[in-house]
This record gives sequence, C-alpha cells and structure tokens, in this order.
Amino acid sequence: MDVFISVDMEGISGIAAAEDVVPEEPEYDRGTKLLHADANAAVAGAVAGGGESVVVNDSHGSMRNLDRDRLDDRATLIRGNTKPRSMMQGLTADHDVALFVGYHAKAGTPEAVLNHTFFGHELVRLTVNGTEVGELGWNARLAGALGVPVGLVTGDDATVVEANTELPDPETVVVKEGIDRFTAACRPTADTGPEIESAARRAVQRAGEGDLAVPDAETPTTVTAAWTTTNQAARAACVPGIEREGGRQTAVTAERYPDAFEAAVGMLRTGATGTDGQYG
Ligand SMILES: [Zn+2]
Repeated sequence: MDVFISVDMEGISGIAAAEDVVPEEPEYDRGTKLLHADANAAVAGAVAGGGESVVVNDSHGSMRNLDRDRLDDRATLIRGNTKPRSMMQGLTADHDVALFVGYHAKAGTPEAVLNHTFFGHELVRLTVNGTEVGELGWNARLAGALGVPVGLVTGDDATVVEANTELPDPETVVVKEGIDRFTAACRPTADTGPEIESAARRAVQRAGEGDLAVPDAETPTTVTAAWTTTNQAARAACVPGIEREGGRQTAVTAERYPDAFEAAVGMLRTGATGTDGQYG
C-alpha cells in the first residue's frame, strides 16, 4: 500500500491563531512542535494500517515547516514550495489512498478556525465549474482525477463538516472547536494524537479493502478566482490562458482536471505576488 499525506498547519491540534502558523511570529516554534506530533501520528497510523511507502507533502505556506529530523523516518518528506501541484505534490495514480492532516475550512466559513482559501487576505472565493471549493475540495478533486480516494481529514469541527460534504465517507478527527477565526477550544493532544493514529490506520485498511469511494473531478474544468482587489486580477490575467472576468475575477479552463489545477496554481501565485498575509 502506497500512502500520500498532505499536511497543512491551520487545522493542527492546539493551533488557534495566525501567530501560531507564521514563521516570523514567536508562537510559531511551538506550533511546529504540534505540527510534527499530528503528522507523526498519521504516519504511524498509515504504517500500522499496511502502508509500505508513505510520502508526506508539507502543504503550509513556505512548505518548509516540517523538519526531516523531526518527522518519522518511515516517511519521505517533500519540503519546499516551488512545486506545480502545491499541496498535492507527490501524489500519483499509483497511490492507494490520500490523507489530509491539519486542514481548515474554506474562506468565509463562520467561526471556522483560520478559515481561508490559499491566502489570508487575497482570495475571496475559488470555484470549480461554478461550485465554491476550499483547499480540501480542490485537492480532493485532484486525487479523484488520479483515481485515488481521500481516506482521512483532520481539523476543526467546520473542516470535518466540509469533509463530509466533499467526500462520501471519510475517516475524520475533530481536534478543536472553532469559536472565532482566531480562537479555538482545543482538545488535549494526549487524546487527538492517538485518535489521528487510529483514524489513519482505519483509512489505509479501508483503502486496502476497496471500501473508500474516489472523489469526482468534473471535466472539462473551469476554475475561477474572486480576488479582493482589481490589481490582483489584472496581474493574474497577464498569464496566457487566464481570462479576466470583470474587475476582480479571473478564470482558466482545461480539458483535464490536473491541467486546470496546475494552471490555477500559476494563476493564484501570480495574482497574489507581492501582497501580504499569506499563511498557506
Ligand atoms: Zn491551507
């Protein structure tokens, strides 16, 4: 069994505020300790469930938050953020299951901890063929396009609601309850760690039994980005193939979802260049 794990940071156990996930902030070091604990719990569960190869893709901000010497040696680590498939770099059609650890709800979800879509301030809304998606649904569709089921989602309560909307029957772990975008009621890590390990084990076992459905990825695919300002849309539309739609929206279309995904990663990076507030 080949297992792919995408690890974001806003939905990690004990993380509540932007200061916990931004490298320049004093709380960040403590945040990375919590990050490794959840990631290592998922790796341990994946191996216990029958995972023979495990790839962990650091999926937050700079994508240099997980340290090789603090991550379980049974996993390969993809570190660094110049990668065409962003949070899903390393996933191939040969993988048996994908696991999403430390995920968060999409931008605009009420009381959801650190809710956003890709950037802290720049993006109001991302849609796929007219349906609004967050990072979870966006990445799940890529797994679906490659024929890989998503077996586990961990994050706050709103993220788990979103997971059950996007996916047929995933394993989930609620590690905290959202009070506000920057405040959470955090469950004890002594409980969430073992729960993540057990849920990852079950997800890999279920994938081995063929018990996980593969997400849909509609094709052809049109992706739209609604930006907060006109200059972001103007910059994104400089890329050939990216269309400007009115003042603050850009769009890209491709026959295959993976191509639309990669084109949209370029559109988002270009539109957000030089602006503040990115926290992954
Ligand atoms: Zn994120």
